[in-house]
Amino acid sequence: MTVGEARTSTEDEWPATLSVQALLEQGWRPTPFREFVLKIHSRCNLACDYCYMYEMADQSWRRQPRRMSRATIDRTAARIAEHARSNDLSRIAVVLHGGEPLLAGPERIRHAVEAVNSAVDSRTSVSFHLQTNGVLLDSVFLKLFDELDIFVSVSLDGDAQGHDLHRRRANGTGSHGAVMTGLHRLTTPAYRRLFSGLLSTIDLRNDPVATYEALLAHRPPAVDFLLPHGNWDTPPPGRDGGDATPYADWLIAIFDRWYGAPVRETRVRLFTEIIRLLLGRPSHSESIGLSPVAVAVVETDGGIEQVDTLKSAYEGAAHTELHVGRDPFDAALMLPAMAARQIGRRALAGECAACPVHRVCGGGLYTHRYRSGTGFANPSVYCRDLYRLITHVREAVERDVEAYRRRASAEERAG
Ligand code: SF4
Repeated sequence: MTVGEARTSTEDEWPATLSVQALLEQGWRPTPFREFVLKIHSRCNLACDYCYMYEMADQSWRRQPRRMSRATIDRTAARIAEHARSNDLSRIAVVLHGGEPLLAGPERIRHAVEAVNSAVDSRTSVSFHLQTNGVLLDSVFLKLFDELDIFVSVSLDGDAQGHDLHRRRANGTGSHGAVMTGLHRLTTPAYRRLFSGLLSTIDLRNDPVATYEALLAHRPPAVDFLLPHGNWDTPPPGRDGGDATPYADWLIAIFDRWYGAPVRETRVRLFTEIIRLLLGRPSHSESIGLSPVAVAVVETDGGIEQVDTLKSAYEGAAHTELHVGRDPFDAALMLPAMAARQIGRRALAGECAACPVHRVCGGGLYTHRYRSGTGFANPSVYCRDLYRLITHVREAVERDVEAYRRRASAEERAG
């Protein structure tokens, strides 16, 4: 299937049918992009079998240049600066991403950071982040990251056995040993300040607590557990449409271990986000909650795209017709697909809007809602898991609040 065919076949699906003009007339205003994901390299040195970039519906990586050119980086930097200026942004984040971004090489990474820093004016502070599989992390890169203040997240799925279930090279050999070497370098005292955390994709075959403890051994400041990408057309492993909640059960085993620990060992982003939302605060993650998503992606060729996990849904799902050479990021904010990520409850399917946990869940990650015919106007394919996880966390927090109240009133009586 070509990209053109895919877009034609989805033109009656939501959000293609969403009217941005009508939203504007109702008083909605877009939230400017605050995070810019730069695909500085479109290929990878691993061949993980669950990868949404290479192994799922969208195959557009095959048509991308391998590396973002200096000229495309410069145009992207100028567009980022323009967006920050015209929207008066005091803070933005730039994420160097791929494929595997380290394949772009130290000089191209230096060029990207210096181009953005010199384009953006001093009223906007820019933080730089890089997401890597860790295999190529050596002292050359780490010295560069230290010099340029680039903060690093590493993908690690647990212990050697769990990690190498999926995260293998093209010749079938596991990457765990090489990732351990890279992580060891990153977590030495000289570079530990650059360590942002670990990203870990769930495989139900792995023991949850053993997986968590294998991650914890690296003392990560944060851990992100990621649900494997899937949707109603292509359900993720173990989600067969029945009432079972295998992903919630897996995560709850970790939540209980994490929440019950005598000290806070790390920040598990999904859990802290759910707790924030339960306490009435906005989410910081697109995985959960109803906060506007303010992320733009720039492909290796300079195309402006939506978040890349959409590539798991269908060919062309992340695509827009916009390009940094012609178009400002403001133009992307006016696309129905981008607006759909910023309209909160109005983007929910009827079942979600009526759901008692919808303010916390927010329908889950948008990517996981896709079903051909209705598009993204559906609950998450992980609906049952999300409901069970959220209610479990809520019960734990409520028990704590109740215990705190009892203690406080006992102290008041005693005093
Ligand atoms: S739990 Fe299910 S129905 Fe409720 S908001 Fe989440 S996805 Fe929608």
